[in-house]
Amino acid sequence: MEASLWIDLSQRYLMTTYRRYPVVLVRGRGIRVWDADGKEYMDFGAGIAVCSLGHCHPRVVKAIQEQAATLLHVSNLYHIVPQIELSKLLVEHTFAQRVFFCNSGAEANEAAIKLARLYARRFMGDDRFEIIAMKGSFHGRTMMTMAATGQEKVRKGFDPLPPGFVHVPFGDLEALEKALTPKTCGIMLEVVQGEGGVVVPPGDYVQRVARICDREGLLLMVDEVQTGMGRLGTLLGHERFGVTPHIATLAKGLGGGVAIGALLAVEEVARAFEPGTHASTFGGNPLACAAGKAVVEVMIQPGFMEAVREKGRYFLEGLKALAISKAWVREVRGMGLMLAVELDRPSAPVIRALMDRGFLTIPSGDRVVRFLPPLVVEKDEIDCFLKALDEVLE
Ligand SMILES: *Cc1c(COP(=O)(O)O)cnc(C)c1O
Repeated sequence: MEASLWIDLSQRYLMTTYRRYPVVLVRGRGIRVWDADGKEYMDFGAGIAVCSLGHCHPRVVKAIQEQAATLLHVSNLYHIVPQIELSKLLVEHTFAQRVFFCNSGAEANEAAIKLARLYARRFMGDDRFEIIAMKGSFHGRTMMTMAATGQEKVRKGFDPLPPGFVHVPFGDLEALEKALTPKTCGIMLEVVQGEGGVVVPPGDYVQRVARICDREGLLLMVDEVQTGMGRLGTLLGHERFGVTPHIATLAKGLGGGVAIGALLAVEEVARAFEPGTHASTFGGNPLACAAGKAVVEVMIQPGFMEAVREKGRYFLEGLKALAISKAWVREVRGMGLMLAVELDRPSAPVIRALMDRGFLTIPSGDRVVRFLPPLVVEKDEIDCFLKALDEVLE
């Protein structure tokens, strides 16, 4: 069926929560996707950092096919083999000692906030429940994670939101110190803000935040839904900053395209969850965990993360070189394969022009164009993209 017919049906039957491009993507392989009219694109958005190993990675496809033919779902009333295997891998390769599985980033953050509150009530004191979060942050679309999110445009129209969050400017240590009260139980942040526009914090900010948590006995809660799973060139993004959190959340890239979320925590904090305190029907189901296991197994291969860091550096240098002669570009920034350009004008025409040339990118706010290619992108593909961007910005 023609794309325009699909688009008519899409507009008739679906709720209008998304502003969509007039493109119907029907097939993918590696970093490429094809639309219903047969046009080919290089996907520099990777389904918003989800298709971390590219589209339909053979290892992920095989794991899903085998698992689908073996066991799709059993409840968490029983032990589940792929769930055990994935949790073991995550524990062996991260700071964490325990894992809880759910189905999305918002759910992982919701679980993180519930865990922090339980832990604080039981082990820190009765009246400690407040979490300091960052302006410009994004933590999800549930009521609780909207309350944690530091962007008015996300929260607008939904109040009253659950209380218990205060927001301070990202990167501002003085404001953070001032926001500490006897009610504070934790500090929640993305080590690089994603939806907020690929904002890399200044200097040793993340380390200093970790030190404040140590000094005050607070929980360091990192939302790694976007920065995690290799995006910054280390399995979890906080590793690049040399800090150790108490709690981290994962989703997007973890399943390589399958819905999965995970809450990771150190033993001391994880013990606040007891049987009956939290649950998810689909969380940790065999299918999603089999996909997640395949993704982690690829990412922990020797040299994989070094290659991501190397390609990230190459891409960033290329963007910087290209930006020098472009009056529209205000800033080039990012880390690993989470990069962006900020323009001095709306980015929509640039995104559309790139799309016409066969490149998918992602807006963040009005003026930022984000680049989140699959981590398996090759240098010559980055070159192709840079050439197209150079032409578009001319
Ligand atoms: C995308 C994102 C979320 C929300 O994830 P969903 O799976 O859409 O619920 C939360 N935090 C960060 C940092 C994200 O990038």
